[in-house]
Amino acid sequence: MNVRIDYELCMGDRNCSKVCPEVFQYDEDQMLSRVIVEVVPPHLEAKVRQAAEECVPGEILIEE
Ligand code: SF4
Repeated sequence: MNVRIDYELCMGDRNCSKVCPEVFQYDEDQMLSRVIVEVVPPHLEAKVRQAAEECVPGEILIEE
């Protein structure tokens, strides 16, 4: 699984980094969350899917 964020649409509400801090990290300077692990290890895939569901603008993009 690969994951990325459409940064132009990120609201910076930190939902993703609360659900899966191993993959998403909040950037205090830019006030948005960033993907820090683009190739998701299998044991984190469920958390990444949950983070994508909780992303209000739906801009966490998963490729399987
Ligand atoms: S959940 Fe979506 S909108 Fe919220 S910080 Fe993460 S990427 Fe941005």
